[in-house]
Amino acid sequence: MSSTSYDINGRVAVISMDNPPVNGLGYELRRGILDGIRKAEADDNVKAVVIIGSEKAFSGGADISEFGTPKAMAEPNLNTVLHFLDTTDKPVIAAIGGIVMGGGLELAMACHYRVVKPGTQVALPEVKLGILPGAGGTQRLPRLIGVEQALNMIVSGATVPSDQFKGSPLFDEYVDGDLLEGALAYAEKAVDENKPVRRVRDMPCGHPRAEAFFLYARNAVGSMSKNYPAPMKCVEAVEAAATKKFDEGLKVERDAITYLLNTDESVALRHAFFAERAASKIADVPKDTPTREINKVGVIGAGTMGTGITINFLNAGIPVTILEMQQENLDRGVENIRKTFERQVAKGRMSEDKAKQRMELLNPTLSYDDLADMDLVIEAVFEEMGVKQKVFETLDSTVKQGAILASNTSTLDLNKIASFTKRPGDVVGMHFFSPANIMKLLEVVRGDETAKDVLATVMQIAKKIKKTAVVSGVCDGFIGNRMINKYQFEALIMLEEGASPQQIDKAIEKFGFAMGPLRMADLAGGDIGWAIRKRLYEEHPDMKRLVIADRLCELGRYGQKTGAGFYKYDGGREPKHDPEVDKIIDDCRKEMGITPRKISSEEIVKRCVYALINEGARILEEGIAQRASDIDMVYLTGYGFPIYRGGPMLYADSMGLLNVARDMRVFAENPHTDSEFWQPAPLLAKLADEGKTFN
Ligand code: NAD
Repeated sequence: MSSTSYDINGRVAVISMDNPPVNGLGYELRRGILDGIRKAEADDNVKAVVIIGSEKAFSGGADISEFGTPKAMAEPNLNTVLHFLDTTDKPVIAAIGGIVMGGGLELAMACHYRVVKPGTQVALPEVKLGILPGAGGTQRLPRLIGVEQALNMIVSGATVPSDQFKGSPLFDEYVDGDLLEGALAYAEKAVDENKPVRRVRDMPCGHPRAEAFFLYARNAVGSMSKNYPAPMKCVEAVEAAATKKFDEGLKVERDAITYLLNTDESVALRHAFFAERAASKIADVPKDTPTREINKVGVIGAGTMGTGITINFLNAGIPVTILEMQQENLDRGVENIRKTFERQVAKGRMSEDKAKQRMELLNPTLSYDDLADMDLVIEAVFEEMGVKQKVFETLDSTVKQGAILASNTSTLDLNKIASFTKRPGDVVGMHFFSPANIMKLLEVVRGDETAKDVLATVMQIAKKIKKTAVVSGVCDGFIGNRMINKYQFEALIMLEEGASPQQIDKAIEKFGFAMGPLRMADLAGGDIGWAIRKRLYEEHPDMKRLVIADRLCELGRYGQKTGAGFYKYDGGREPKHDPEVDKIIDDCRKEMGITPRKISSEEIVKRCVYALINEGARILEEGIAQRASDIDMVYLTGYGFPIYRGGPMLYADSMGLLNVARDMRVFAENPHTDSEFWQPAPLLAKLADEGKTFN
């Protein structure tokens, strides 16, 4: 199928791009543009050319469906097409609307004139994938909008509306009416006026104080992008635009992209980009699965999670009925929601009007009758099976047939929850993360009987409320918490063996986690983990006790909420070293007969991260996660795993699974740890032996 069409309109040839959804610059499209220009060149009646996209997009850049295939680089590649535009002698006008991004903007900038619809979204977002624009974008944009503004756009990858470029030659004319008509009129006028072929490469580019400006830019960018090489390479490339000839600048750009494409950071960022897209697909739920309409949402429980969940839907313009048992709790929840919006208004992130409109979508109630016609109800009450049972039985008898009944449980068996209703197919887990209005991750828990259209609907609604949804099967802790428990466990074992809380947290934070495991435990509240441990100790009397963690809880040190945990807090949130904890740790070690040993940061990182990986491998093998990249997505969006490392499973791949398995077998010999814990999961061992990877 051709991705372009070629028409003649008077003295103007029109090349229309047609590669939905965003005119990705795939092989057919590139070929079509090149052929169109050649045809126009050969036709004496054609005096000018217009290249136009769809209403939705001029072009969003590279065609991601071609990534990793020979077509991505097949000639003509984008650079070849742009070079052709630089050499043709008939004026080419880009007619731009919707979005113009990445390679799409590079294509537009290689045209000789540009007309645009107001409100078009403009960006060079490559830096977000750890690379930079590789088809002259770093050289042409500074020539069109000035060095400083171009550098800001390229380093940040930010999207800027076209109206902000008024007065610059990035856009020669803003077309209010029909874009094609406007472009044709512009082209006819250009022919009448004998406008020359105006090549951006021939435009001057400079900065009055280039040396000082780029020194400043390097300092600013360097401190903001420590673990990412791409932003600094963007500075180098734009500096070349300002200080060197166009072709020399292009070479700097090309060397930079060649280098960046092979960095671990870029591999990780591109992995995350594709992992997010993959996560939205469910193998046995085809794309065309019908979905249910969700216009009204009910939330049960106006506590920490219920209020956060509610805010997501209000932000998406979906009315929410929120239910509590007592007026007092209901009022407190509504007040917390109102305050969240007020804080947004105070910070200038939301207008007062918008905040008011959102609150108007909220309907607080104490009566289940008000939930009868909801399309989706999400339960976020106490984490007790008895309480959940009552809620789901009541929902079953009050809410209309066809509604989706979701639970936000973190640990309870979703299949059991579903069994409290006569419609288990309509029951699904929607596991949000705290704070639920901010955290991107949503684990969608698929029960044994969850219907396919329920899953398809929840995945769709997740997008609407701007969450990254990952499907998990039913198990204790689902994907994220099941893995984090192993990681926390290993951190606590190392505490017993000789490491200090500060040392463990520092090592893990240096690795790139937003927060070390013990600071995280203090933030989450030690009592939660303690309650789970006590249950497990009863169920498994032979299980290893976590003596230090238990002792801190016995002393009422639950973390931030009690002002003391592994650290002390002095009324604030900042963890401070507590000599009292040193003494407690010391006493516990003596009781256990442990002579503390020095543990290196490298060992701390390996034992914590490999604990994640090993459990991840089990989760994958059991089919709890559909694919390794889903596990990575959970960790990147819900647990602060460093994005530039791509998630635990990609990290394992990059370390080499053979090396990971070998290290685990060494850890298993440590007399203080549980040797079972460190047996490589069968899938990991198998892949390692076969020289394969998870992803
Ligand atoms: P919370 O104690 O802050 O809120 C629970 C709310 O539910 C309270 O306001 C309570 O009054 C209300 N409630 C209790 N029984 C009720 C009933 N029968 N009907 C109506 N309302 C009732 O608890 P939370 O932290 O918001 O947790 C709620 C759920 O979300 C739990 O299942 C929890 O495991 C899960 N969860 C919590 C987190 C977290 O970080 N807090 C994260 C993910 C999931």
